[in-house]
Amino acid sequence: MVDFAAIRVQFPILDQEIHGHPLVYLDSAATSQKPQCVIDAEAEFYRTINAGVHRGAHELAARSTVAFEEARAKVARLVGANAEEGQEEIVVTGGATAGLNLLATAFGNASLGRGGAAAKRFALKPGDEIVVSKAEHHSVLLPFQELAYRTGATLKWFDLTEDGRIRSDTADEVITERTKVVAITHVGNTTGAITDIAPIVRRAHEVGAVFILDACQSVPHLKVDFHAMDVDFAAWSAHKMYGPTGVGFLYGKRELLEALPPANFGGSMVELAWMDQPAQYMEPPARFEAGTQPVAQVVAAGVAAEWMMNIGLENIEAHEKTIAAELLKLGDIDGVRILGPRENVDRIGTVAFDVAGVHPHDVGQFIDAQGIAIRVGHHCAQPVHRHFGLYASNRASSGVYNSVDDAKALVEAVAKVRPFFK
Ligand code: PLP
Repeated sequence: MVDFAAIRVQFPILDQEIHGHPLVYLDSAATSQKPQCVIDAEAEFYRTINAGVHRGAHELAARSTVAFEEARAKVARLVGANAEEGQEEIVVTGGATAGLNLLATAFGNASLGRGGAAAKRFALKPGDEIVVSKAEHHSVLLPFQELAYRTGATLKWFDLTEDGRIRSDTADEVITERTKVVAITHVGNTTGAITDIAPIVRRAHEVGAVFILDACQSVPHLKVDFHAMDVDFAAWSAHKMYGPTGVGFLYGKRELLEALPPANFGGSMVELAWMDQPAQYMEPPARFEAGTQPVAQVVAAGVAAEWMMNIGLENIEAHEKTIAAELLKLGDIDGVRILGPRENVDRIGTVAFDVAGVHPHDVGQFIDAQGIAIRVGHHCAQPVHRHFGLYASNRASSGVYNSVDDAKALVEAVAKVRPFFK
């Protein structure tokens, strides 16, 4: 049995009062809080081994390089990816948004003929199709919509069920012989719904398309294994998985990373550079890591990954399920509608809701006055809000440090909203 009360104590930020109430943090879908070990890891790096990686001949550079690569290996282990030298499948990025843009830019470069014959599988032309869903975060929708504009490809999308699940059952119709890229969220950042990706991955591969997973809201909450899931690429952010801001990861099947042309250019990604000839780029992952990397943050993200694995992803999932069950009671309050699955099945503890007749900003402020932090707005997912006939909503989202009492406090507070604003 994991002692989750003891885990909560590891988060110094949670030990404070907001507006005279103990802080209840239910905004982990936006960003998670950080345990002391992660905070310490970043400071310790700067105190003891800070140096540029993969370059210097000096001892500190060697130590920071080891720490950086060990962190990559820990992150790889978290998601079931390869980490052996020469077989790495994890690329360091600035976050999920940066990773998704990296892919869209690289596919655009392949469409211009860059990367040679190997990169042809990523090239798009007019008539080709890119498939997303209406549940996507703008960080998926917009890079691939722009890629469609740049290449003349057509953007298509999966529709949603009434309760906001991606219609995986329509994969055979939505994905056609013309589809080249499919980019889908693993867990909706508004609905909390876990996508049944298997039929989509199968169909994407049947037609030779590349399947990209937005794993931002799954990696922090569920045990994922990208090999077992057979996804081609996956992007996520460290700051939502108890790690630092400003850093994220892109998983890619090794053979695909080897075939993918670079997206960002500069130092540390090139073998040979000339004035009058094209450069010769390094093998992955270095090819995709141009410029000085956020080494301290990557090292701390590795500590976060290890910390999560020590708790056990199954334990994290089971614990957060108890919180989700309590949060779903929001739907029993008169005038409150949950935007997502009502049943505590194939979903996480991210629960968006609408309070009839009360603007989300008013709801958020009312809740905040009681020391409870939730998110209000469109959560960078406007199409899914349109699906529910709304522009904005309120969203509570759990982390490993939350207790059922936190969720109860929110439900009690939300029950007072309509009477207050009447
Ligand atoms: N995808 C999903 C599902 C998200 O929830 C988020 C963050 O809110 C992102 C992508 C973008 O992550 P970041 O802003 O860390 O790049």
